[in-house]
Amino acid sequence: MSPREKNTCNTSGSSTSHLSTAECPSHHGSVPECHEEDDRGEERDQSEDERSSDEGFMARTPLLQAHHAMEKMEEFVHKMWEGRWRVIPHDVLPDWLKDNDFLLHGHRPPMPSFRACFKSIFRIHTETGNIWTHLLGCLFFLCLGLMYMFRPNMSFVAPLQEKVVIGMFFLGAILCLSFSWLFHTVYCHSEGVSRIFSKLDYSGIAFLIMGSFVPWLYYSFYCSPQPCFIYLIIVCVLGLAAITVSQCDFFATPQYRAVRAGVFVGLGLSGVVPTLHFVISEGLIKATTIGQMGWLFLMATLYITGACLYAARIPERFFPGKCDIWFHSHQLFHILVVAGAFVHFHGVSNLQEFRYTAGGGCTEDGML
Ligand SMILES: [Zn+2]
Repeated sequence: MSPREKNTCNTSGSSTSHLSTAECPSHHGSVPECHEEDDRGEERDQSEDERSSDEGFMARTPLLQAHHAMEKMEEFVHKMWEGRWRVIPHDVLPDWLKDNDFLLHGHRPPMPSFRACFKSIFRIHTETGNIWTHLLGCLFFLCLGLMYMFRPNMSFVAPLQEKVVIGMFFLGAILCLSFSWLFHTVYCHSEGVSRIFSKLDYSGIAFLIMGSFVPWLYYSFYCSPQPCFIYLIIVCVLGLAAITVSQCDFFATPQYRAVRAGVFVGLGLSGVVPTLHFVISEGLIKATTIGQMGWLFLMATLYITGACLYAARIPERFFPGKCDIWFHSHQLFHILVVAGAFVHFHGVSNLQEFRYTAGGGCTEDGML
């Protein structure tokens, strides 16, 4: 069934003042919208009965007639948002929805209805890939997180502490991915809603980065808590600074695309300092084997590649209009964020495994 066909119930009602139950393809069928429309239809029937008693009066008062016409028009426009919208080209979008002028067609129109925005998840437009990449990523990390939290305590040296520490990573990842898919879903609602959710979206990236640092610093500096705490405080301060900047309206504008990418890459790259500290103290061999630097390097490469594609709008820059629906830079960036987060998780679980096999004890000279 095509997404458009799914809206039969909604669309059939738009040409009349209300929808009769007979117009639904299956009154007892599985299409929930039909029942909702039926209920509304009944409500409207009641209100029409009430109205009919006033009809004589209304017929004599042009003002009330105009009011009635306005109500009908509102109902019609509401129906349009609910089910009858079509994708539109970039050049007819209002300014607040214009973000990437290399995506020429396939945009959702402004739809000031949350119901319509959420229903659009199941339709094909420029945001479909952005929504699903992070919606599925969010569910994946939610399941992975729950599995990790319910692992038997005997596979940890300090079960409660380690579960809290790794839980911070999962919390960051789930917040980031859920703010992201929610933002992309309601982005076309209205200027105000898009502004609020874009701020949440950017804050989510900062949460993911901060959450990723926690278990990595905990296991990498297991036997030297002082630098661990100092680095944790630094990344929290930098993360909060990034969240504060994200609250400024200018930050979300297309002109600041490269600045946004720079802020979050910078926040992630603050990890270079503890990495160098680790390499200098433990040596390169220990860093690449026990320290999981290879996975960390891969994670950084994935994130930075994603941020570069996002900032430079590659590949749609080279093929304007060809990547409107699939494989545009934002989708690739989303996929690379999920991949980067998973690689980080893999590195952290290797660190955790090392700690478990090494036991809770610390030697005099090492940080691990
Ligand atoms: Zn996004």
